Amino acid sequence: MKKHNFSAGPCILPKEVLLKASEAVMDFNGSGLSLIEISHRSKDFVAVMENARSLALELLDLKDKGYQALFLQGGASLEFLMVAYNLLEKKAGYLNTGTWSDKAIKEAKLFGEVVEVGSSKDEKFKYIPKGYSVPTGLDYLHITSNNTIYGTQFKKFPKTDCPLICDMSSDIFSRTLDFSQFDLIYAGAQKNMGPAGATLVVVKEDLLGKVSRKIPSMLDYQTHISKDSMFNTPPVFAVYTSMLTLEWLKNLGGIAAIEEVNEKKARLLYSEIDLNPVFEGYANVEDRSLMNATFNLTDEVLKSTFDNMLKEAGINGLNGHRSVGGYRASMYNALSLESVGVLVDVMSEMERKG
Ligand code: PMP
Repeated sequence: MKKHNFSAGPCILPKEVLLKASEAVMDFNGSGLSLIEISHRSKDFVAVMENARSLALELLDLKDKGYQALFLQGGASLEFLMVAYNLLEKKAGYLNTGTWSDKAIKEAKLFGEVVEVGSSKDEKFKYIPKGYSVPTGLDYLHITSNNTIYGTQFKKFPKTDCPLICDMSSDIFSRTLDFSQFDLIYAGAQKNMGPAGATLVVVKEDLLGKVSRKIPSMLDYQTHISKDSMFNTPPVFAVYTSMLTLEWLKNLGGIAAIEEVNEKKARLLYSEIDLNPVFEGYANVEDRSLMNATFNLTDEVLKSTFDNMLKEAGINGLNGHRSVGGYRASMYNALSLESVGVLVDVMSEMERKG
């Protein structure tokens, strides 16, 4: 039976991407060799890397605007460190919107002063801070555009006179934005892009080379730029599969086209959460994420009934993050409107039963 995969990440990928990726594992481009047993310096793989980098910039509308796209390793978690290593000379600002921002702050503190410009910790990260003022003289301001665990998402981004850095791990390629307002964007591949193992970094080149410390080669963005993202052996399967997903998205009509579907999915689910007395939303309404909808049962007694109904309907991955509990429906790009419909049907059936 087909499963409806609401997993928060690694998560659902388009079926045609999975098919093409598995074919390439057996026979890459009709070469008689597997994608994962050929040299990353081979002509065919170099073309994959170039295509993936180029598609990323094209979809974000950042081509010929001074940006470079890199496919690195170490997940978004290594970027918490690399951002500070490469950019933090004296003082950086961070908006603390949850666990992932917190982890980024912890790493940055190894390199300089960190100012928590705003935080929503006081209300268990149910909202996106507003009305804060960004101090002058920061090396950069770091934000997390979508907070995967709490289901909050920035709708408006801070205007700054310093570089703006964004952890976009859980909503990159999901909605149209002016991506040129960011000086560096990073995202683990395992949500809207591909399998875990690759991290996309999109960086404005003129941001780099300004800190006085020596940076180890592998952690220096300039090393990776100068080697066309091939300084060391890249995660070939993750890059190839990411390329396929980016091609899929481009063929669909790009970010604007998927955004329409993402909005429909979110509207359908949030209206059920709001109208159905069996459920209540977790995040503040105005800051709700289009990607991760968090909600709870109004009466925990119903939990085993609801969990059984989810299982019967073939719904996977709806448990909330272990730190907050409840439920979380992750509706990444590859999840269909139909799958959200199946979840909403189960929720309305709960109301009838409850
Ligand atoms: N940032 C955000 C917003 C995330 O959702 C995650 C992972 N879920 C991370 C960072 C950490 O990513 P990784 O596991 O790739 O290090």
